[in-house]
Amino acid sequence: MTHTAIQKEIPLFLEDELNNAELSEFLDHVENCPECKEELTIQFLVLVGMQKLEDGTTFNLNAELSELLKDAKKRLKIRTTLVKTSIVLRILVVIALFTATALAVTLGY
Ligand SMILES: [Zn+2]
Repeated sequence: MTHTAIQKEIPLFLEDELNNAELSEFLDHVENCPECKEELTIQFLVLVGMQKLEDGTTFNLNAELSELLKDAKKRLKIRTTLVKTSIVLRILVVIALFTATALAVTLGY
């Protein structure tokens, strides 16, 4: 993915609107690309930092951002696990149905 494409996804990332594939690609890129990381930092500061300043809460930009990235990675892991689990479940259902049908046929129903 290009820097431009990644940087376009930053607002979506901050709103948690990226799908699993996009999020995975986004996180990989941002971690290895200082340019996009910087852009993310700026947009994060604008979106979240300004709100915190208004609230009067103390705000540690770097800590909050790395927390956000860590959370996103955790979410991504959970979501991909869920997707995998649901695929496995579907396969199990198909196997169960097949076995039941085969059994019914064998038993002559
Ligand atoms: Zn980049």
